[in-house]
Amino acid sequence: AAADPAAGAAVKADDRAHVFHSWSAQGLIDPLAIAGAEGSYFWDYDGNRYLDFSSQLVNTNIGHQHPKVVAAIQEQAAKLCTIAPGFAVDVRSEAARLIAERTPGDLDKIFFTNGGAEAVENAVRMARLHTGRAKVLSAYRSYHGATAAAINLTGDPRRWPSDTASAGVVHFWGPFLYRSAFHAENEQQECERALAHLEQTIAFEGPQSIAAIILETVPGTAGIMVPPAGYLAGVREICDRHGIVFILDEVMAGFGRTGHWFAADHFGVTPDLLTFAKGVNSGYVPLGGVAISAEIAATFETRPYPGGLTYSGHPLACASAVATINAMAEERIVENAAEIGERVIGPALREIAERHPSVGEVRGLGVFWALDLVKNKETREPLVPYNASGAANAPMAEFAAACKRGGLWPFVNMNRTHVVPACTVTEAEAKEGLAALDQALTAADAHSV
Ligand code: PLP
Repeated sequence: AAADPAAGAAVKADDRAHVFHSWSAQGLIDPLAIAGAEGSYFWDYDGNRYLDFSSQLVNTNIGHQHPKVVAAIQEQAAKLCTIAPGFAVDVRSEAARLIAERTPGDLDKIFFTNGGAEAVENAVRMARLHTGRAKVLSAYRSYHGATAAAINLTGDPRRWPSDTASAGVVHFWGPFLYRSAFHAENEQQECERALAHLEQTIAFEGPQSIAAIILETVPGTAGIMVPPAGYLAGVREICDRHGIVFILDEVMAGFGRTGHWFAADHFGVTPDLLTFAKGVNSGYVPLGGVAISAEIAATFETRPYPGGLTYSGHPLACASAVATINAMAEERIVENAAEIGERVIGPALREIAERHPSVGEVRGLGVFWALDLVKNKETREPLVPYNASGAANAPMAEFAAACKRGGLWPFVNMNRTHVVPACTVTEAEAKEGLAALDQALTAADAHSV
């Protein structure tokens, strides 16, 4: 598209006058005005095009403006834009079936929400009503959303300002060998010690008071820590032994991101409840939900479920989910994510890590990778302190600016950059982005020894 700086300036002026942005000091931000997007790229009004290595907020798994999904939304809009959740309607029925066919085990009923946080809220509500217990355990280094229960369950600093109503939430340490909370020296030790720590937390909190344990199958925003073999199976066993509902949050890891439909598929583990959003329809229309086991669904067979949303199972959202899932299957997009990750992205990142003093660890799978940036590879001291802002965060801000100058839109969180392109990313696009990343890392290297 031709550059049109005047149009961009008008968009920006109205934004600054009237849009109140998430997570931000309103006077200190400078949002980029976006003119359009397609596939793995988006562009501004000044003629700059960016390769999207963030998939926005790790949600455009199918890339921007997939023609089949756009057409499905248009067709549904012409047919039926909205209908209350109480009715049975073709696209909602079909979306629920397509999702249930892919979720592990007997997670065959789908409660639709508008996004991930509402999915977590409802999963927790279901677990509490199903067990008659109140407490929920969640991990540090996690993100579960920004609504009441979801933000309390979150294990990163975004929780702190909203932590006043955290009654019933208890945090524990999940496995993360590179920054082990257990002084473990290998994955097996990390796994055993993390499970023992969880057991002990449960013993001291009182097993009969715990409704649920919620985990991201592969923690996303907190650092893409692929759990060691046996960990999730161990949590499943602990939950079974104590009658605790096991919730896996697949809002970020689900729908192809890890190279399987669900990250749980890598570990052969079936939770009692699974939350999803983002990749289910790549966010073309807001959609999330909870996949529910037969046993928990049975709890609400004759007893009403006390929760609902005006837009639960919205037809435009469901139509886009149907089109997205069908396109992902027809075009082998999940397989592409697995293949590009294993053959192109993983090896390239490991090679990059060897050459750059700032790259402490590379970890991930599929199109879901993190680079842990450090000041020193020996001490593993993070490139910026935990939750740094302002001047303390300058090394990461310089790195992000270098990416953008090179035409790469990065995902950056604390001392990490995540390589999370669309599941549709081609080999050529991945290589283009990796070359830009390689270049930008010299900005981080300047702060490392
Ligand atoms: N759960 C996980 C694992 C997430 O990554 C997110 C968002 O990043 C959420 C929940 C919240 O989803 P939403 O922003 O759609 O409410």
